[in-house]
This record gives sequence, C-alpha cells and structure tokens, in this order.
Amino acid sequence: MTAEHVPGFATLAIHAGAEPDPTTKARATPIYQTTSFVFDDVDHAASLFGLQAFGNIYTRIGNPTNAVLEGRIAALEGGTAALAVASGHAAQALVFHALLQPGDEFIAARQLYGGSINQFNHAFKSFGWNVVWADAADPGSFERAVTAKTKAIFIESFANPGGSVTDIAAIAAVAKKAGVPLIVDNTLATPYLVRPFEHGADIVVHSATKFLGGHGNSIGGLIVDGGTFDWSAHKERFPVLTAPRPEYQGIVLHETFGNFAFAIAVRVLGLRDLGPALSPFNAFLIITGIETLPLRMQRHSENALAVAEYLAGHDKVSWVSYAGLPGDASHERAQKYAPKGAGAVFTFGLKGGYDAGVALVSKVKLFSHLANVGDTRSLIIHPASTTHRQLSDTQKSSAGAGPEVVRLSVGIEEKADIIADLEQALAQV
Ligand SMILES: *Cc1c(COP(=O)(O)O)cnc(C)c1O
Repeated sequence: MTAEHVPGFATLAIHAGAEPDPTTKARATPIYQTTSFVFDDVDHAASLFGLQAFGNIYTRIGNPTNAVLEGRIAALEGGTAALAVASGHAAQALVFHALLQPGDEFIAARQLYGGSINQFNHAFKSFGWNVVWADAADPGSFERAVTAKTKAIFIESFANPGGSVTDIAAIAAVAKKAGVPLIVDNTLATPYLVRPFEHGADIVVHSATKFLGGHGNSIGGLIVDGGTFDWSAHKERFPVLTAPRPEYQGIVLHETFGNFAFAIAVRVLGLRDLGPALSPFNAFLIITGIETLPLRMQRHSENALAVAEYLAGHDKVSWVSYAGLPGDASHERAQKYAPKGAGAVFTFGLKGGYDAGVALVSKVKLFSHLANVGDTRSLIIHPASTTHRQLSDTQKSSAGAGPEVVRLSVGIEEKADIIADLEQALAQV
C-alpha cells in the first residue's frame, strides 16, 4: 500500500483502532478486564492526571479495549476522536452535559426514539436543559425555534419509528447560521449507510446496542467528535470548551486539544464525573460486531426492501412506510443520504387496526416480539399495545404509533423464511 492509500470501509471495520497486542501478540483485541493501570513513576502519574500525557489511569476514564472501539467508530464515521460509554442514553447525556448550562435550550426533531423523547422531556428538564421540539420534515421549523439560549440541534439520520430519512444538510445549514453544533443520532443507519459528517453534522452519537453490536447482546453508546465545530468562535456560549478548567490547572480544552477537544471534554469532565463507563467485555462484543457491519447492513437492507415490497402488495396491509420503496415520502432523500440501502427498521399499517396488530405479533414464529431493533434476528412490535400504551389515541397517532401500526426490524435470516412467517401470521389476522 502506498502512503496515500486510504483503506475502504470494510477494511476499517475490521482493522481501524486495533493492532496485535504488543506484549502477548494476541491478534483479536483482548478484554482488558482491569479497573486500574500501574504508573511508571510519580512523574508519569502526575502527567496523566494533568492531561499532559495520554495513558490509562482507571477504567471509568478509559480502557485499552474501549479505546479500540473508540478508534474504530471514529474512523468509520470520519471523525477526529470518539468516546465509548455505557449506553446510547449515556452518550446523549454526556454530549448535552458538555454543551448546556442550566436554563439553556436545544432544538430536537420530534421524530425520535421514544426513550430520547422521555430523556429530553423529563430527566433533562430536571437539569434545567430545555428541549424545544421541531419537525424533522420541515427544516424551517428548526430555524424558527432558534433563540439566544439555543446551544445545539439534535436529529436522527433515519428517524424513529418509521425509518424516514432526515435532510441532514438542510438542518446543518440552520445550525451553522445559528452558531451551534448539529448532533446526529446515527443509530439506525450506522456509518455504513449514512455518514452525517459529510453532510455538515458536528457530533455523532450512537446506541451501539443496535446495529453496531448487531447481535442483541450488549448495551453500549458512542460519541464521535467531527472536529468541525469552531468552539473559539463562540467563547461565551460554550464555557466547558472555552473557559479555563479549574480541575486541570486552568487549561482551556479547545486551545489544548484543537479539533478533538469535544471528545476530550466528554471524557475528562463528563465520563469522569458522571461515571457511565462501558464494560470492556461489552466493548469487545461491539468491536466483534462491527467487523461484519458492512455485510450485515447490506443484508438487512436487502431483506427489508423485499419484506416492504411483499407487505405493500398484501390485501390486509393499508400502507407501508419504507424509504427504500419508490414513491415513499423519504425515497428521494434516501437516494441522496443512503444510496447503499434504507436500513432494516420501518413501519406499516394493518387494515384491521388494533386487534389485527395484537393478532399479528401473537401469531409470528420466526419474528421475536420485543422492544429492540438492530439484532441479527427479525423483530416485531405493535407500539400501541406496548411502548406507546400509556399515550392517548391522538398522542399515539402523532408519534407514528397509531392503533394499526406495526414496526419491524428485519433480520438477516433467509428472506424467504421472513416473508413466509409474515404470510402465515397475516393469514390468521
Ligand atoms: C436504542 C436507541 C437509543 C438509546 O440507546 P440505549 O443503548 O438503549 O441507551 C437512542 N437512540 C436510538 C435511535 C435508539 O434506537
């Protein structure tokens, strides 16, 4: 390979961030199941604690297994650095902790993972971080929501629950004009299908629990710094990045760490002080999952398209919302942002309404009826009787979880078997 040769995505998915263990020569990344790391001497310890040298201190702040995962996701997203944490929700909490002071606002798309809507409406409000909702399908609604207190904009690349594709570039333009970072939750798309930094995002977050880990066995979260946001242009607005840090001898993070200052801030202030560290064992499972990410996302998207086409032609189905289908409201945006495929997660409506939804999830055999997405296995849920049960009918419908709605996360089994399972279950609806 020449010096200029840039490895492709599938190569980075297997190699980025990792090298054979220097001591044991282990080829797979070892699980460094240790809380702490021995200092060379007192000076070494002092330089680590003072952020003058990089190295391992204590697994709440960093761990060599987790560091491989961080290097890998930073390479796959095209960011400058990353931080691995205990869950997708922990990633979101640490991002906003670095950006917001009590009384500040951020604008979020209304079309989000249900757990994020709860986190923003309740837990974040109790910290004085105020969410202002906008419509992912209308970039102008973000612009109208900007105030002097706005500190960030938050969207999903493929939005829950219908898998619609968000116009990242249009909303990035609003963020740029407002002088605030755009945060993109890239969980449902993964960097294999959508690369938010190429469209103007500044920070990417993931629930690694879903397609990155990919096997339904570990909870984890990731924060990726795009290195694009100029904190120094907004000194008053982002004091965590631009004011001297009393706990680190007065250093100013963006001056010392430049285009990866945000990744440092969420680690040395957020993770250190709030504590949601990722277990190295989970990091190992997520690293292993990412090695096959390109193959799995291709197969997920191919199977989901076949299932969506099958459902669109079924006489018990009233509508199918899948960005991969020509004619879908998101189809054009899918071709721009996700030309390799529209992912695995989408919704459809049953003519028989609530009872038909309950019957369908009871009759499937290959599909698992549960509240997750991004497993190798095909998953199904009827939101109106489960995740959205407590909402009124109007609230259910505006959240895309009306009585007739079923959500699928199409797995990577044989597509004929997935369709046959829906066929036999729909026959009993
Ligand atoms: C699951 C999920 C989250 C939350 O992640 P956890 O790992 O469950 O904390 C956030 N965003 C999206 C889009 C998700 O699917």
